[in-house]
Amino acid sequence: MEYLPLFFQLRDRPVLLVGGGKVAVRKARLLTRAGARLLCVAPDIDAELRDMLERTGGEWREARYASSDLERVTLVVAATPDDAVNRLVAEDAGRGNIPVNVVDCPELCSFVFPSIVDRSPLVIGITSSARSPVVARLVRSKIEALIPAAYGRLAEFTGRFRDAVKAGIAEEGQRRRFWEKVVHGAVGQLVLAGKEPEAEVLVKEYLEQDKDEPRGQVYLIGAGPGDPELLTFKAARLLQEADVVLYDRLVTPEILDMARRDAERIYVGKRREQHALPQGEINELLLDLARQGLCVARLKGGDPFIFGRGGEEIEKLASEGVAFQVVPGVTAASGCAAYAGIPLTHREHAQSVRFVTGNLKNNRLDLPWQEFGNPQETLVFYMGLKSLAQICEQLVAHGREVSTPAALVEQGTTRHQRTLIGSLGTLPEQVARASVHAPTLLIVGAVVGLRNRLEWFGEARDPGGWPPTAGTEDHPVGWQADS
Ligand code: SAH
Repeated sequence: MEYLPLFFQLRDRPVLLVGGGKVAVRKARLLTRAGARLLCVAPDIDAELRDMLERTGGEWREARYASSDLERVTLVVAATPDDAVNRLVAEDAGRGNIPVNVVDCPELCSFVFPSIVDRSPLVIGITSSARSPVVARLVRSKIEALIPAAYGRLAEFTGRFRDAVKAGIAEEGQRRRFWEKVVHGAVGQLVLAGKEPEAEVLVKEYLEQDKDEPRGQVYLIGAGPGDPELLTFKAARLLQEADVVLYDRLVTPEILDMARRDAERIYVGKRREQHALPQGEINELLLDLARQGLCVARLKGGDPFIFGRGGEEIEKLASEGVAFQVVPGVTAASGCAAYAGIPLTHREHAQSVRFVTGNLKNNRLDLPWQEFGNPQETLVFYMGLKSLAQICEQLVAHGREVSTPAALVEQGTTRHQRTLIGSLGTLPEQVARASVHAPTLLIVGAVVGLRNRLEWFGEARDPGGWPPTAGTEDHPVGWQADS
C-alpha cells in the first residue's frame, strides 16, 4: 500500500490554496464542503472562487505566493499552472511538515485527493495511488451505483445511539455484534425504507436485551481446499465478525487475510507427526475464548466434518452450553477433482465415490480393503501421501486392476497445484521421483481417465496442469511436470 487512507477533519481549520483558476475552484469546492477556512493566494482570482470564499468566510490575497503564506495553516493545496511556484510550495510545506497536495503532480504531494463517494456522514475515498485516476473514477461510479443514498442516513441514525450503546454494553466485541445485528437486520431495513421512528423503538428493545450479557460463540468454518474464492459467503461474513481466529496449516494466507485486521490469529496447526497443539488443548482453548465473551472463528481446511475432527471440537462446546455454528466448506475431494478435471462420479464409469483416510496408525493402514474392489466406485484418499505405495498395493491385492487410473493432486486449487497421472501400478514410482509436497489427494478409478476429455471441452481448470502433456484417456500413464 503506497498511501494510507485517512480522513482529515478540516472544519474551521485554515487551509492555504495557491492558485486562482478553474482547477483551484474545484479544489476550493471540495475543501469548503469539508468546512475548511480557505486562504487563497494568486495574482488573478476567478470571480466564482472569490464568491465562494466570501460565502464561506474565506480570505484571499491577489498576489504571488510567498513562503510566509504558509504560516499557521493546517494543509496546503497548490493548483497553479506555474511549475516553479508549485515546487516552491511543496518545498516550503515539506520544511514545515505541512501536508501538501500539488494538483496533477504526485511526486510533489505528501497526500492525494481520492475519488469520493459522498453519502455523508458515510464517505468513501478511492485512490489508484496516482497510477490511473480514470480507473479510480470508474470504481467510484460502480460504487455510486451500488450504495443507495439512504446508507448515509443509516450511518447518521446509528451515530445517534453510539453513546447509549457504549454505556450499555461494555465489552467491545459484544458491542460490535450488537451493531452488526442492528445494521444487517430489521433496523437497517427500516431506516433504509425511511421508517426511522419504528427503527428507533427496535434499537432500544435490542439494547435492553443485550445489556451486559456477554455471549461468546464459536464458528467452526470450513475454509475450502485453498483457493479463497471457494470460501462460502457465510464463511466470509462470519470471518469478518470474529475477534479471534484459530487456524491450521491447510488454511492459506489469502483466506486468513479475510479476517478483520484487528482480530487475533492463533496457529493451532498440526504437522504430520508433530502436533502444534494437541486436540484436547484446542478444544479447551475454544471454550476458554468463548467464555471470555469473544466471537471465535475456528478455520479448518476443506470441510470441518470431513476428516477434520470438527465433531470433537463442538462436542465440548455443546456439553458446556457455548453457542456455536458449523459452516460447511468445499472438501479437498471436490476442489481437487474439479480443478484437475476429474469428475468424481460418472453415469458410465463410477456410480459412487468413497472418501477414505490414508492416515497410518503405527505405520499400518487398517482399512476394510475387501470393500474397495468395485471398479465402478471412485476412491479418494485423504492423508495418503506417506502410505501411497501401501494403498496402491493393497487395492491391487484386493481386486483392483493394476492399470486402474490414479491421480495425485498436489496442493489442489492453489496456484501451486500439480497433478500427477498414472495407474495403481505406476503412480508410487512417479511420485517418488517427483518430490511432492503436502497436502496431496489421491483419486483412484476410471474417472481419472476422463481428465483429458474434459480438457477438450474446456470444462476444467487446473492452474498448473494444462494442457496435459502425457497420458491419454485409455492409457493415463506418465506424469506431467506442470508449469
Ligand atoms: N477437512 C479437510 C480434510 C482434512 S485432512 C477437507 O475436507 O478437505 C487433510 C488432508 O486433506 C490432506 O492430507 C490432504 O489429503 C487433503 N487436502 C486438504 N487440502 C488439500 C489440497 N488443497 N490439495 C490436496 N489435498 C488436500
